[in-house]
Amino acid sequence: MNKQITDKIYCILLRSGIRIWVDKLKSIELTAQIRGGGNLFEIEGQVVNKSDISGIFTADKIDELDKEKRGMWKCKFNVWHNRYDICNCGMIPKELR
Ligand SMILES: [Zn+2]
Repeated sequence: MNKQITDKIYCILLRSGIRIWVDKLKSIELTAQIRGGGNLFEIEGQVVNKSDISGIFTADKIDELDKEKRGMWKCKFNVWHNRYDICNCGMIPKELR
């Protein structure tokens, strides 16, 4: 079961905000179907209209989107900060960041 969850590292993000997690193979399959010009896709037992798909993203990208949604921002040192935080990364030794 755990393996099944960790394999699903691609997210089909729908315009409604619904997220359907799939594994790499399924994401490749789906991309090919979309490129092939289909309009309806079966994803994990659900039928999705192409126009409802906002995109296919990796788990990392989804994590970034969530952080941005919460108002967080990434500084030039690649560190995430809360909305009103001031970046002091340049003054902190790398290992303490
Ligand atoms: Zn910073």
